[in-house]
Amino acid sequence: MKKNTIITIDGPAGAGKTTIAKEVAKRLGFLYLDTGAMYRALTLKALTEGITVEEEEKLVEMVKETILIAKKDDKKGMRIWVDGEEVTDKIRTEEVTNNIWWVCRVKDVRKKMKKLQREIGSSGGIVVEGRDIGTVVFPKAPFKFYLDASIDERAKRRWLEQTNKGIQSDLEKIKQDIKERDNKDFTREIAPLKKAEDAISVDTTGLSIEDVVGKIIEQVSQ
Ligand code: C5P
Repeated sequence: MKKNTIITIDGPAGAGKTTIAKEVAKRLGFLYLDTGAMYRALTLKALTEGITVEEEEKLVEMVKETILIAKKDDKKGMRIWVDGEEVTDKIRTEEVTNNIWWVCRVKDVRKKMKKLQREIGSSGGIVVEGRDIGTVVFPKAPFKFYLDASIDERAKRRWLEQTNKGIQSDLEKIKQDIKERDNKDFTREIAPLKKAEDAISVDTTGLSIEDVVGKIIEQVSQ
């Protein structure tokens, strides 16, 4: 494997992309880019500015003016700044999660993010995770993975994540929310979530983090 290679990891919410991508990057000494965090950061700014779902033009103007910076951090994996303010933790709220669909469906928003993601990944040596990375952002990447897991397992993981943070949540509600997000991601007109034809599918249901990381490292080391 070349040191400047690009590894893409796509898949639905709760499939384990973030955990796996971070760990693979760490073991290979690669950069790690969470593209969902970029859309989350834009959504946070739109909500803060009071932009609504109907105001697409305003949203596009806002995104044009926004300075988004994503940088590697050894402890947290990746930190993100919007117009000079660090928002790494602020973008993980339910409000952002519930509103992101109308931000990331807009053509000009995705265009700017694609450009930025390509710039960040231009020197290679990077693991990039998202929904359209192997299909749209880096279609020529030599190593592509598509992670998935059963809906029950994905919901359970989210529930555990919340519980470990001390947040009480309802498993059934989480399951419904994930189904709705899946539906929006799969049916979006531009850059929908889709397995790239040449991506390797990994069903992570019942697999440990170590199992999945091991599979990916094995593939890229061949
Ligand atoms: O990965 P994460 O769950 O943080 O992503 C949040 C949302 O951002 C996804 O549900 C998806 O709608 C959107 N997204 C996207 N394209 C990407 C990454 C994320 O549309 N490359």
